[in-house]
Amino acid sequence: MGEIIYRQPGGGAIEFAKQLTEGLTREQAAPVIAALLKGELHDASDKRIKRCQYCGYYWRDDSLRNTRRTCSDDCKRSIKTMQRARQRADAELLNPKPRKRVLMDDYVYWTEYPYWINEYSMVKIGWKYEKPDGLAVMDYIEAKRSIYGEGNRNKMTIDFDF
Ligand SMILES: [Zn+2]
Repeated sequence: MGEIIYRQPGGGAIEFAKQLTEGLTREQAAPVIAALLKGELHDASDKRIKRCQYCGYYWRDDSLRNTRRTCSDDCKRSIKTMQRARQRADAELLNPKPRKRVLMDDYVYWTEYPYWINEYSMVKIGWKYEKPDGLAVMDYIEAKRSIYGEGNRNKMTIDFDF
């Protein structure tokens, strides 16, 4: 037997626990519930008492043929949902759907220095983030250059010949 996974107890499990703790106070009920979870409380020969395959708690199967495996319709629905999700994941793993390639796939962003592996993609996307300077800014740079010369160091000349 593997480890039991407990989930939100379903209706059948709650009903079963309720029957066993009928009329008890909270303090009296606690050890009863503890024994119930360990499986020490009920008659082991009673084949109708079993663990719900979804929520993991004990419950009593009152169906005619004793063939149900979940304690409530909610648990049955949840287990079906889980199975479908698992099947979908397996199918996806074995036969993955081809994904459409997008321009952003060409951007290697996870390295220390991000870079593009395709120039077209870079221009197509990059311009939105690195806009060229406007005309006014370029005029300013050009004017500054003509006065002070190239480069970042300002070469200042002051004419003292008034
Ligand atoms: Zn259940």
